[in-house]
Amino acid sequence: MLPENFDRESYIAGLREKHARILPPDMVFSVEDGWLPLIGESLGEIEWALDRHGWIAKASVRQIKEKLGDLRIYVRPRRESASFPKALGNELSDIRSRFTKKSVETCEICGDHGQLDTFGGYYQTLCGKHAEQRRVWIAGGREGDVFHD
Ligand SMILES: [Zn+2]
Repeated sequence: MLPENFDRESYIAGLREKHARILPPDMVFSVEDGWLPLIGESLGEIEWALDRHGWIAKASVRQIKEKLGDLRIYVRPRRESASFPKALGNELSDIRSRFTKKSVETCEICGDHGQLDTFGGYYQTLCGKHAEQRRVWIAGGREGDVFHD
């Protein structure tokens, strides 16, 4: 669950500052608020792995997004032709799969426990309350705001 006074813009500003070494300044956070803390944790682990393997200056995050209901964070070598050494590649893929698994158990809207499901053909991981709001919104012809308190 997100803290009561959670503020998306300042949380993202904090991530940009803390992880400036691996986040390009124009990085877009294409997910709802409920997943931002997972992204924060994941970036910490990614940065730590790159640092230990001597790759911190040679790699960066390319994309942060939701796809088919789960969280995707893509990390690549800065040089297109380069590739990660095997040990680092394995570590990054372990981080990725652990956080993918966490994301499909975390409501993308509010951070409560959630479940991956399909809503009108669109995959999303939502808690019971937000899943219900989305179903009502779809049944009502998708008018107005889908999520509300
Ligand atoms: Zn929720």
